Amino acid sequence: MRIGVLGAGQLGRMLALAGYPLANTFVFYDMSGNPSAGIGEVVTDQSGDKAEAFLARVDLVTYEFEHLPVEIAETMARSKPVHPAPRALQVCQNREAEKTLFGRLGIPTPRWQMADSAESLRQAAEELGCPVVAKSNTEGYDGKGQAVLRSPDDAEQAWNAIGHDRLMVEKFVNFSREVSLIAVRSSDGDVAFYPMAENVHHEGILRYSIAPAPRLSRELEEEADGYIRALLHELDYVGVLALELFETDKSLVANEMAPRVHNSGHWTMEGAMTSQFENHIRAVTGLPLGNTAPRGLSCMVNIIGEHGNIKRILELPYAHVHLYDKEERPGRKLGHVNVLADSYEELRWRVENVAQFLPGSPELDCSLTRTSPL
Ligand code: AMP
Repeated sequence: MRIGVLGAGQLGRMLALAGYPLANTFVFYDMSGNPSAGIGEVVTDQSGDKAEAFLARVDLVTYEFEHLPVEIAETMARSKPVHPAPRALQVCQNREAEKTLFGRLGIPTPRWQMADSAESLRQAAEELGCPVVAKSNTEGYDGKGQAVLRSPDDAEQAWNAIGHDRLMVEKFVNFSREVSLIAVRSSDGDVAFYPMAENVHHEGILRYSIAPAPRLSRELEEEADGYIRALLHELDYVGVLALELFETDKSLVANEMAPRVHNSGHWTMEGAMTSQFENHIRAVTGLPLGNTAPRGLSCMVNIIGEHGNIKRILELPYAHVHLYDKEERPGRKLGHVNVLADSYEELRWRVENVAQFLPGSPELDCSLTRTSPL
């Protein structure tokens, strides 16, 4: 199959790396003018008039990036199969649509309201009760376009700092940890789930994903499986879908979803029987899904901003290095290291060993290092 991918970053690169062994080829569609996939063909289309030329080269279309005009995906879907369907893209681009859908499907979320002025932001903060998190309704990622309001008096400043004309205002969730679930649905409607991951963010950027998430109860895992199954069914979804959640006392609250392979699923490259990338390719090309069972315990460590001492990491017998061939820049995702182990204790020790060679790595502050029970 000739697979067209909307977006041309590292997720596309890893989709291609997983797709070539199954005899696929890849063409990327890049609207940013800054493609980094570094593999396959790239159609760069900043003006939006090369969609036809791109479509002529591919058998089907999928995404590795969701912040592109949904009309482009809709137009493409009139002449070639597009998986997942553009509606998934539309929902994920708009927090209000996403949280409304969650609510309709019975998926719990933080309480929220919309605000379209500094005054309505103040009012929402008063009604929900501070602290609240204000987020741009569209175009937000990696914690960008967000502010926490400790008091309704912060409204004016937060409104100006975010600089968008419509915000989602959410009750701040006092979570014990952040977790995510990755599932995949085939074109026949079969669904497979990866074990959930525990995610550690620093300054809005994912730094570590540990899978299977330590000490996650079977009930919560099944609850989350039910939520993502409902989303997959509702969207008649084909491919990988990621759902990010907060774990509180004894329940899960959904934060957001991504209609694509996800950074918190990179551990599956060596840590699962079939990676999220291969399973996405299998799904969108109409093949049976692969086994999602873990091969042991894994932790993915992101390489952010600087490459650090990769040579030293390569000497470690338990570390698998993946580089995206990108220039160093503060906050930029340059690669990741997957660490495997047989026990959580060993995993922690190995991850800390890797992190010492990555400058700026935050402390591994997670359920592996905390003494208090979750
Ligand atoms: P988002 O862009 O919605 O994924 O938010 C980025 C990060 O901000 C999340 O990973 C959380 O760490 C934090 N965050 C977002 N929403 C909330 C919330 N309602 N309560 C507490 N923290 C939040």
